[in-house]
Amino acid sequence: MNTALTAECIVIGAGPAGLSAASQIGARGHSCVIIEANVSGGHILITPEITDYPGIEAISGYTLSSVLLKQAQSKNVTVMTGDKAVTLVQDHQNRYTITLESGTDLYAQCVVLATGLRSVNTGLPEESNYLGKGVSYCAECDGFFFKDKPVAVYGSGDGFTEAVDLLASDCKPVYHISPSGVCSTGDSVSSFEGWHITALEGDGILSALRLESQDHKQKRKIEVEGLFVYMGKEPADELLKPFLEEASDPARTGLFITGHLAGTETLVETCASGVSTAGQVSGYLNRKVNDLQILYQGEDEAVHVF
Ligand SMILES: Cc1cc2nc3c(=O)[nH]c(=O)nc-3n(C[C@H](O)[C@H](O)[C@H](O)COP(=O)(O)OP(=O)(O)OC[C@H]3O[C@@H](n4cnc5c(N)ncnc54)[C@H](O)[C@@H]3O)c2cc1C
Repeated sequence: MNTALTAECIVIGAGPAGLSAASQIGARGHSCVIIEANVSGGHILITPEITDYPGIEAISGYTLSSVLLKQAQSKNVTVMTGDKAVTLVQDHQNRYTITLESGTDLYAQCVVLATGLRSVNTGLPEESNYLGKGVSYCAECDGFFFKDKPVAVYGSGDGFTEAVDLLASDCKPVYHISPSGVCSTGDSVSSFEGWHITALEGDGILSALRLESQDHKQKRKIEVEGLFVYMGKEPADELLKPFLEEASDPARTGLFITGHLAGTETLVETCASGVSTAGQVSGYLNRKVNDLQILYQGEDEAVHVF
């Protein structure tokens, strides 16, 4: 059965940006719910040590996200985890309905999208069948599942070389497959530079990859139990796509974008972006109350709308 929740503001994504925004929205006296598809914390959860946060010598990403979560909860923010926002609908008065994967509906006067970036996949249709069954996008999170087992790292660019090096200390062998990039790797790594993956194979669990050279002249099959995909990151912006025009003027529509999704890079910028968005949200909500009061005000009497 569907249930419904109402808040002045709903924040989607409980990474550092969303949690920073939600805390400050709560601190300014507005009702706020934050929705998170997984567990709260976002990308920093897997960062062992953050050393560039002003005023803090060093802190693990896990500890920092726990503090951010506690701060949000202490400001009366309701935190809902393990449920993904799948649709966002706006009515003609700029009120929003958010539907979660579980079927729960939430209603809000304004929305903050803090959904960050997500890993680009290989584009192979069978990839989704092997998620959690051999395919991973995070060597730090899942590498230990493949200790002494054959794995491949596929891609290039940011994080790719680090993932190869990390896995090379535990997994044997480590195949490095890069359609274009060049990567300096250790002895335990077999390199396929200028090759791409054409198929993933396995009986429910990944067991092999089919490879082809870029000139299509050579083909190989390699046996692996793990495939770590590092094809880069892209904005997690599906909820935003129907609203591109509205999002360009949040002060009018109440649809705000913050954090990595809004283009920040470092954690400090990301948290600052969340805090700054909270200020804009508060201004928007206060204006909306005033506007509605003026709209509904009788000759002698103000109407309280929230
Ligand atoms: C390995 C690693 C190490 C890093 N180390 C540092 C560092 O040392 N210093 C530094 O300054 N920066 C570092 N960064 C960058 C930092 O992590 C980012 O700046 C920050 O995480 C971005 O925060 P965000 O809240 O915008 O997005 P994210 O952290 O990506 O959080 C977005 C959240 O939204 C959720 N979400 C997405 N879609 C939905 C949906 N439809 N419904 C509900 N929830 C959804 C996601 O599950 C996620 O939890 C590092 C990043 C990584 C990956």
